[in-house]
Amino acid sequence: MSTNLSERMKKRLPVPYTDSLPEEIKSNLGKWADRKFHGGGIIEHISEKGDHLFTIKVGSPPNARFSSNTLRVFADIEDKFGIGTLRFTRSGNVEFISDSLEKSLLIKNEIEKMGFHAGGWRNSLWSIGSCTAYLSCTTAVADSSSITKVLYDQFGKYFTDEESIPAKLRISVAGCPTACGGLTSDIVVVGHYGDAPSFDPQKIGLCLPRSAKALEVAVPEVVMVCPMKCISAFKKDDDTVGIQINREKCIACGRCKDVCDYITFDTTKIGISILVGGKSSNTGRGQNLAMVLIPWIPISPPNYREVVAVLQKIIDMWKGNAVAGERLADYVRRIGLREFQKALDIPVTRWNNTEFVSSEFGIRQFPVR
Ligand code: SF4
Ligand code: SF4
Repeated sequence: MSTNLSERMKKRLPVPYTDSLPEEIKSNLGKWADRKFHGGGIIEHISEKGDHLFTIKVGSPPNARFSSNTLRVFADIEDKFGIGTLRFTRSGNVEFISDSLEKSLLIKNEIEKMGFHAGGWRNSLWSIGSCTAYLSCTTAVADSSSITKVLYDQFGKYFTDEESIPAKLRISVAGCPTACGGLTSDIVVVGHYGDAPSFDPQKIGLCLPRSAKALEVAVPEVVMVCPMKCISAFKKDDDTVGIQINREKCIACGRCKDVCDYITFDTTKIGISILVGGKSSNTGRGQNLAMVLIPWIPISPPNYREVVAVLQKIIDMWKGNAVAGERLADYVRRIGLREFQKALDIPVTRWNNTEFVSSEFGIRQFPVR
């Protein structure tokens, strides 16, 4: 192997990550023995060698987007008071690390002066994950980032106060039913098309084979992607291809639009679906995908009052009835989605009835309105 190739091979993933760890972490790898919560976003890690490290968890802006300038300031703060390492969590929070409680409090003070908040340990809101939606995605139907901002404004108190709710709470927000943020949060907020699509009859042919003969050998992509098999292609009299959509069967998932620009949704029907009961951790009742609580509510930017009101009701119900340490997801599973819906006075229809709606269907449900 030539030297160049050997050097290149060294750079291939997986990168030997231990090379870049600070000494305080590297020398204690696998030796962490205890931890202590100090409130306000600070957790202390104690190693069997007697070393102490402190993590300060800081909430991020929606979609975990920072300017490079903010990151430079973060790096300066960490260099001054920490051990020179920042960590970005899978939920989009930022963790500063220091070697004393005093320095941790100085870090917390500095980031709070910048308008950020520390919190998110123990019985608190750990994160509101947000997909990118309109910031850079082509298929968004709701602006997940602005929804996330509103939710943080309303529920940020549960992030900073680490004893205000029965257990850890995760919320995620997705701009469309693709739900890139996943369905394993206690509460999932999803932008939803709200009705079956139509198509432009003049242009739909551009997404279909030119001759009906092609139907004998291949299924058009726009037909193939439909999970409900409600798009069918047929031969027209002039030997071209047409499609029809069974609107009763359609679940408005938007996959057909992903592959054909001439599929269109009525933008006046776009709304929000609210799901509950998702969890990725193996604690309590184990992992689960969230289930549809409310298939559709109106979308009302900029304050999204309906979404905020529903989430507040969900959290209040959980706070008032869960046992200590019980995640919202576990509470909903314990009493059953139907009971939870009844307690919140949410009408049960075929679109949010667990007898009809399985987690395979997930959020791809919408009401016939
Ligand atoms: S969930 Fe939808 S809107 Fe959000 S990033 Fe994924 S595809 Fe885009
Ligand atoms: S929105 Fe989904 S279910 Fe409806 S026609 Fe398109 S692919 Fe099929």
